[in-house]
Amino acid sequence: MKVDKSLKLFFLSISLVLLISGCVSVPTGENIAAYSIGGKTYYPLISLCDLRHIPMQYEPLLRTVYLSSNNKSVNLRVGDSLILVNDNIMHLNSPVDVYQGTIVVPRQFKEEVFDVLFKPAAAALRRRGAGRIKLARVVIDAGHGGNDPGAIGRSGLREKDINLDIAKRLSSLLKEEGVQTALTRSTDRFIPLSSRVSIANRSGADLFISVHSNAARSRSLSGFEVYYVAPSVSDAKRAALTARSASLNLKDAAFASSSQDLRTIVWDMIYANSRAESIALSHSLCRIMDSCIDANILGVKNARFQVLKGIRMPGILIEVGFVSNLNEERLLRTAAYRQKLAEGIVEGLRDYSQDMALVEESRR
Ligand SMILES: [Zn+2]
Repeated sequence: MKVDKSLKLFFLSISLVLLISGCVSVPTGENIAAYSIGGKTYYPLISLCDLRHIPMQYEPLLRTVYLSSNNKSVNLRVGDSLILVNDNIMHLNSPVDVYQGTIVVPRQFKEEVFDVLFKPAAAALRRRGAGRIKLARVVIDAGHGGNDPGAIGRSGLREKDINLDIAKRLSSLLKEEGVQTALTRSTDRFIPLSSRVSIANRSGADLFISVHSNAARSRSLSGFEVYYVAPSVSDAKRAALTARSASLNLKDAAFASSSQDLRTIVWDMIYANSRAESIALSHSLCRIMDSCIDANILGVKNARFQVLKGIRMPGILIEVGFVSNLNEERLLRTAAYRQKLAEGIVEGLRDYSQDMALVEESRR
């Protein structure tokens, strides 16, 4: 789809030119003009949308913009740093603005939202990459275990057993793809959340996946959902804590001996980036899973789960289905369905890892 011509004209003719001192054009290497506004890099939204063929709807009265493509959507408002990404609230470091008559978005929006959500020419790279999963190591966490059964279905199916079985299936599928895996538990035993977090953080993995099964009071509730760490979990606070306790695993040794302030800033960036990647992964999983299983896809959500708060890499928590729902309990009992779920997760990871490789490529 193409951006409406009249819409372009409209943007060109908007007379809301903000006169901000220190605005200069900077080259981007991507044929998109970028502006430095108040020391921050901004991009014209219309250029980003043009480049990726993303339809853009502007509501002049409310000064809101709506972008949507392939079931992914973003709502923005001029002057606001709060945006909606697939109906989830996200805070930008700087607000959406208007410069030289056109709506401009901060670099953070381009890199963490736009480039991740609306990937450039994904199909082209997929053909080249021959579908390899571009991850070196993944930590798989089977929720609960031992004396903690997790949720229990009406016919007695225990969450801990489903989680472990899917985790193991996922692990062997990934190994077949050449991805190293580490399981936080490979037997039916209890492991505290803090230990799961330290296993993940010691592993040097690219990704953390926690597998859970759901239960709800309403027995009619069913479906698959994916969680990432809630935006209310402060990256800055986590960064300050981590900077004190952990060393940075960066090639540049200068960081290792640098001040705590500097290390805090780097950790803050790592956490923010991890969250953006976790969101992208969650969406990939839900999108792919929609075509793999015949279940409700409840979508992407966020929560303050302790395991997700503690890990220092992109990570998600998958609720594969509801044991409290009779039909889903029956399905989860079958090895075939659990295998389907594991295979779907692998396909989601493939989609995500290739998107990430693309974003990396476009930054180069
Ligand atoms: Zn659970």
